[in-house]
This record gives sequence, structure tokens and C-alpha cells, in this order.
Amino acid sequence: MSGSYKGRHKLQRLQKPQSTRSADEVVKELKQKQAHLPTYREQSLKIHGLICAKCAREFDLTNKHLLTVHHKDGNHHNNPSDGSNWENLCIYCHDDEHSRGLLGDYLTS
Ligand SMILES: [Zn+2]
Ligand SMILES: [Zn+2]
Repeated sequence: MSGSYKGRHKLQRLQKPQSTRSADEVVKELKQKQAHLPTYREQSLKIHGLICAKCAREFDLTNKHLLTVHHKDGNHHNNPSDGSNWENLCIYCHDDEHSRGLLGDYLTS
């Protein structure tokens, strides 16, 4: 068991020397981490499933980036947690939906 233990410490790399970090930096880092929390897109995909609400095409983890979240009322800030303002549309149906005069919102989501 001896000897092979070293060299497997890569998981520890998050621990940086404390002396170089101020409280401000720690807070800043936490905020950056929060920015990577699930977005409304992730929530909508979870609630409505990986399927296009229009053409019923199904997606999986390998191609779910082709699925976008459409805001039914067109308001990006209206994000009820029950998903009632979201609709999962594939990029084609989403494009179609917005080609009727609404602004494309999928570029920012
Ligand atoms: Zn579709
Ligand atoms: Zn949309």
C-alpha cells in the first residue's frame, strides 16, 4: 500500500494558500459560482422534459442544446418556478415561433 499513495492529490487543488485570499475575493468567487447554478432553462427542461412542445421531437443529454426555452408571454423576466411561462421548443420550432414578428430570445438564454 505504500508508495502508490502520492500523486493522487489532484482533488485538493481547490485549496489555495489562505494568505493570498481576502474575504472579498472569497465572496467574489462565491458569486461566480452562483452564476453557474441552474438557470431557468435548466429548470424548464427539468419540468417539461427534453421534448419539443411543438413538433414533439425528443432530445437527450447529447443533443439537448438543440432544445431552447421559449417564454410564452415573451417576457424574459417572467420566470415562475412552476414553469407556466416556459415552453421547450427545438431550435427550429423556436425559430419558427419568432419568425412571426417576436424578438428572438433564444440567443440570450
Ligand atoms: Zn420542434
Ligand atoms: Zn422564444
